[in-house]
Amino acid sequence: MSNSTITPWVVGNWKMNPMHANAFQLIEEFKQLLQQDNIAAEQCHIGVAPTSIVLTGVQAQLKDAARAVYTVAQDLSRVAGTGAYTGEVSAELLKDSQIEYVLIGHSERRELFGDNVEILKAKLQNALSAGLTVIYCVGESLEQREQGAAEQVVLQQICDIAAVVKAEQWQNIVVAYEPIWAIGTGKTASPADAQAMHAKIREGLKQITAFGATTAILYGGSVKAENAVELAACPDINGALVGGASLNAQSFYQIAKAFAQSK
Ligand code: PEP
Repeated sequence: MSNSTITPWVVGNWKMNPMHANAFQLIEEFKQLLQQDNIAAEQCHIGVAPTSIVLTGVQAQLKDAARAVYTVAQDLSRVAGTGAYTGEVSAELLKDSQIEYVLIGHSERRELFGDNVEILKAKLQNALSAGLTVIYCVGESLEQREQGAAEQVVLQQICDIAAVVKAEQWQNIVVAYEPIWAIGTGKTASPADAQAMHAKIREGLKQITAFGATTAILYGGSVKAENAVELAACPDINGALVGGASLNAQSFYQIAKAFAQSK
């Protein structure tokens, strides 16, 4: 069973995928599933992360859902406040739009858009200062895993941010372990391998923060309805960050249900 003191999180990362009509339909289907068979809010936090242009539309659409479903931004600016920063969306603008959650450090941002440690630290500081909760993504490449460096890489990614997170701000951080080789590939880390890394992350967090025992650690990487129950049964896997399978309302619902029932 999962660590019962931590409410699991299941968050769908839509990436640059559904157009408005598809996003609308997806949310309508998901709302209907919750209507038919609700998942208690205290059993599982549920969130969806649409692209920024769809974010507030989805948020409005979710207002009459049978339970809270959070809207999560996929990214934010490394620049704080307002100003002459063409194309950017700041933490304050997210907060002003009642968006309370943001992903930071997704491997696609790190690999394709140059989000290095300094940029990630700036984004994190901005998000936390604005009062947002951050889902901070970490994970090793296949090469790093094959070299036996997975644990070191992942723990370093956690340490990278420790200098800029104030003691009490750790309450507003969720960690998502996403081995890069498992993202969008159909290859999932085995529950045993995922659990082993999550246990290491838990140990690392306990050394860094007083909230280390209660920080939710999500797994991401080809999570689907078919493997969610097994992953949810691992004691240190406190939820899932779901890409592809979150684009299907039924699969996403089944994943949320699996984690809710693992409590
Ligand atoms: C992700 O991008 O965060 C992810 C885990 O994707 P997928 O579930 O498609 O592997």
